[in-house]
Amino acid sequence: MNGSSDISKANATCEENRVLDIVSLYPKDMNIYGDYGNVLTIMRRAELYGYNPVLHEYNVGDDWPERVDMILGGGGQDHGQSRVTEDLFARADAIRELAENGVPMLMICGLYQLFGEYFETVEGQKLKGIGILGEHTVGQDVRMIGNLVEHSADFGDIVGYENHSGRTSLQDGTQPLGSVDSENCGNNGKDHTEGARKYNVIGTYMHGSVLPKNPRLADFLILTAAQNRYGEFAPKQTDSQRTELAKLDELADRAREVAITRPR
Ligand code: GLN
Repeated sequence: MNGSSDISKANATCEENRVLDIVSLYPKDMNIYGDYGNVLTIMRRAELYGYNPVLHEYNVGDDWPERVDMILGGGGQDHGQSRVTEDLFARADAIRELAENGVPMLMICGLYQLFGEYFETVEGQKLKGIGILGEHTVGQDVRMIGNLVEHSADFGDIVGYENHSGRTSLQDGTQPLGSVDSENCGNNGKDHTEGARKYNVIGTYMHGSVLPKNPRLADFLILTAAQNRYGEFAPKQTDSQRTELAKLDELADRAREVAITRPR
């Protein structure tokens, strides 16, 4: 048997198994305020839709996975961000190509900042970003902290929790993820924007974790990954999987209600 028929056999098996390769980006250094909950949510919801998600935890110095259907990145302290920047640059071309090919990505806070042009810390240290999202960030003494609701055209109201010193400015033409009602929150406390989007890449300050509380956002990532890989999103569910998914959605509604009514 030759190599190419081995590969096509392996691909056929993957298709039968409905594999989705999910990358968790820098979970050791960039995982704060429960951001790993986003990974757990994607893994579980994808299973409940009858897919077979395979998790690749990628940390500084690791081998880059062969196949990537989705990338999830969390937030982190300034020092966590400076630990990953060099490695992120080494992977920038691969990540950029995946982004251009429509691979869904969710980058929270610290990695949202590093997916932009640069992040300048309060101390004046400038960390260069990989420039996929048209934005840059400058740290300030006063952090923006608290529960937050933003309004987005595609995902409805997104409920989360922000905690950042960085004030992010979007370049002209960069689409925000959503809008916030008040000042002193969101991207920069001034222009009522929150987050940024390009291709299927979403950057946001929403911790929470955000995906358990916002199933529409989670399902967008799963649907896009499945469509990219298999040409369609085709749930194959047992009754108990459907019931569990409904239960998760109900829990999300309850968590959202609590977060919305809690003062900042
Ligand atoms: N260090 C960055 C800031 O404070 C990111 C914080 C975070 O990821 N929560 O702006």
